[in-house]
Amino acid sequence: MERFNALVIYEKDDGTFERKIEERQISDLPDNDVLIRVYYSSLNYKDALSATGNKGVTRNYPHTPGIDAAGVVVKSKTNDFKEGDEVIVIGYDLGMNTPGGFGEYISVPANWVVKKPESLTLKQAMIYGTAGFTAAMSVDKLQKFGLKDGGKVLVTGATGGVGSIAIAILAKEGYQVIAATGKIDQTEFLKSLGASEIVNRNDIIDEKKALLRETWDGVVDTVGGSILASAIKALKYGCSATTCGLAQSPKLDITVFPFILRGVNLLGIDSVECDIEFKKYIWNKIANDWNIDFHDDFYEEVSLEQLNEKIDLILQGKIKGRVVLKHS
Ligand code: NDP
Repeated sequence: MERFNALVIYEKDDGTFERKIEERQISDLPDNDVLIRVYYSSLNYKDALSATGNKGVTRNYPHTPGIDAAGVVVKSKTNDFKEGDEVIVIGYDLGMNTPGGFGEYISVPANWVVKKPESLTLKQAMIYGTAGFTAAMSVDKLQKFGLKDGGKVLVTGATGGVGSIAIAILAKEGYQVIAATGKIDQTEFLKSLGASEIVNRNDIIDEKKALLRETWDGVVDTVGGSILASAIKALKYGCSATTCGLAQSPKLDITVFPFILRGVNLLGIDSVECDIEFKKYIWNKIANDWNIDFHDDFYEEVSLEQLNEKIDLILQGKIKGRVVLKHS
């Protein structure tokens, strides 16, 4: 148990970054409350940024990414957890500047850890991971802001991790889901998740008009930029859009008109720093009401060795669904 495998990112003298699978020691990890043997992790966009030297995500290298981890407690300094507990850790500093789930062990503060709900397996928890958690948070917030039963909801970045799980949860809740994608060839995949209509993401963009025809009862946006701006301009009176990501752009070029003439809301989603009690609440929703029996083609299970190419693909927007890392 003293030695384990991890993906380690090195910063080279020439400023480029290199990925290696290496043996690490438990003593290389920070001395935190809970030591966890990680059985599953998953790949998120942010992990790819950390793995390619994005200093906004990870300041210091060598570093092991992995913002998600599901595993079993090996040692605990607090009474909240005991050896053998099955747990989930997502967000906070995991995988950013704290060694993350792309290693077989992590050591984290107790207040980052959620006991795994009974009705989820460790692997299912990581099929959701941060992406699924963010999708669930987005739907939860839209509902708290009055999303109309059976309403028409636009999901952008539809084939991505957050978008695809948002489609599945919204469909399960009985909404009419319109999926906006750059991958029209994935229409069958999106329909199998529960989308009732698929649109080309370029077809919903209108950068000129301040307001568009009232179309959406809600929007789950994962891409930002002109797609989010156009979606807000097409919200129906009093309705809301959530924003969690920037796959297209971090910029939002919009006037105040949708807000002051239609009373629409733009709702921020942060899965990273939200309170641990809120994380428990969302994980319980995922484990119960929003527990989805995903088809096998929704996710790809990979080893540490196979993760390398997936990191490059997610940066190119070429991943469909989720990539789950299984440690040996
Ligand atoms: P993925 O890479 O899995 O999916 C992003 C999707 O966005 C792609 O599959 C693609 O979908 C679409 N996309 C990619 N590039 C572009 C582009 N240039 N223009 C328009 N659309 C594009 O990422 P995730 O779903 O995991 O995350 C989505 C975003 O949310 C990321 O920016 C991520 O950092 C952020 N995020 C934020 C969180 C938070 O707490 N706020 C938590 C988790 C993620 P398609 O081809 O179907 O259009």
